[in-house]
Amino acid sequence: MHQLTIAEIIRGLREREFSSVEITRQLLTRIEQLDGDLNSFISVTAESALRQAESADQRLAAGDAPALCGVPIAHKDIFCTRGTRTSCGSKMLDNFVPPYDAHVVEQLQAAGIVSLGKTNMDEFAMGSSNETSYYGPVRNPWNPGHVPGGSSGGSAAAVAAQLVPGATATDTGGSIRQPAALTGTTGLKPTYGRVSRWGMIAFASSLDQGGPIARTAEDVAYLLSAMAGHDPRDSTSLNRPVPDFTATLGDDIRGLRIGVPKEYFSEGLNPDAAARVQDALKEYERLGAELVEISLPHTHLAVPAYYVIAPAEASANLSRFDGVRYGYRCENPADLRDLYMRSRGEGFGEEVKRRILVGAYALSAGYYDAYYNKAQQVRRLIKQDFVQAFGQVDVIMGPTAPNPAFRLNEKTDDPVAMYLEDIYTISANLAGLPAMSLPCGQVNGLPVGLQVIGNYLDEARMLNVAHQYQQATDWHRASAPFAQTAGEQ
Ligand code: GLN
Repeated sequence: MHQLTIAEIIRGLREREFSSVEITRQLLTRIEQLDGDLNSFISVTAESALRQAESADQRLAAGDAPALCGVPIAHKDIFCTRGTRTSCGSKMLDNFVPPYDAHVVEQLQAAGIVSLGKTNMDEFAMGSSNETSYYGPVRNPWNPGHVPGGSSGGSAAAVAAQLVPGATATDTGGSIRQPAALTGTTGLKPTYGRVSRWGMIAFASSLDQGGPIARTAEDVAYLLSAMAGHDPRDSTSLNRPVPDFTATLGDDIRGLRIGVPKEYFSEGLNPDAAARVQDALKEYERLGAELVEISLPHTHLAVPAYYVIAPAEASANLSRFDGVRYGYRCENPADLRDLYMRSRGEGFGEEVKRRILVGAYALSAGYYDAYYNKAQQVRRLIKQDFVQAFGQVDVIMGPTAPNPAFRLNEKTDDPVAMYLEDIYTISANLAGLPAMSLPCGQVNGLPVGLQVIGNYLDEARMLNVAHQYQQATDWHRASAPFAQTAGEQ
């Protein structure tokens, strides 16, 4: 049953081929047997999952259940879950049990999903490999010597290993799309504001956005339809109707204008990965789309601008972790100052500290104009590039990441090499645009992702465009060796 997609589970549950309790049990067993090697979960909530599955089965029997009722998924451990530890991958929150649910968690619960647990992630979502997690790295189901990407590496790996058919994730600079690319899964970062940030632990608030990772665009459409929606508790939440994203998946894409930015095929891109992306573009031409060369001239400024803005916002957001109200507190503090210094010094990992230092520096009097203000100006230019491009084209396509999954420890000593992982993804966050990644081939047995960037609130079109590709190709069906060899039940 673990091979089933969300769409197939929805059908199976309705046709009484299996119950929610049955599939939930199977996946829990699979997680118990296999996740020791993968480390994609921080917490598994077997008991509450079975309770949720039982009540889902009752709703299904009553006949008026919403589409996702009874479907098991997992939540990235950045989303607050009432009564269940929410660590954000950090020692700082190792003991934190939230008294409330994130809006995303509430929405999915109302839709009847069953949550199997909380997935591993880079500490406070800072990273591109899952190696900054306090709970240890996650392994890539395609090759255990390689990283799954980050920061949503646990969610992506759990989906690729077929421990869950879908999972929630978040993307500040690429953390849904890059791990989706590196694990051969499909992930979508919505338009900024589409999904509420309430109860999603803040990293960089003007960039953070929640979204789903699953195996197909159709499954992503199901999850996004339930996750999205207005929430007055997030002041940047958009008050716009949420369409049923599954309703338009079958639309014809003949005549679609695809912008291909020349800056996305620059020298840092692995040539084999580039070839797979080009193959995907040719497939789109066969499907009747038209390729249009475009330019996004400020692309090279995205990473430097992001690494001022994101740390600046992080330094402010993370000041709340002071050892007083919740989270880690040092032993035997001598006085208040000692309590602050040691709680933060001992509770945060190295990458988080690096970001706080960079951010506090960029925001300090005398440097604010030179760094933070300048970065905001660059951000505006990047956004204008896109506004101009969307005057000519319907979607933009290119690679998601510059290379397939790299080896564990390959980039841990070189933060800048790690930061360059997000060279193609960060711009969409800076501009607030929706973007997704879908598998489009392999290099040496490791998946390559195609990125699709859409115009504001145009998720329905992006999903339609991705689904049409997946109707014509099989890359999304290729399953990771780990998923195949491990414990057939
Ligand atoms: N890898 C980027 C960073 O480390 C993006 C992370 C994210 O999207 N959360 O900041």
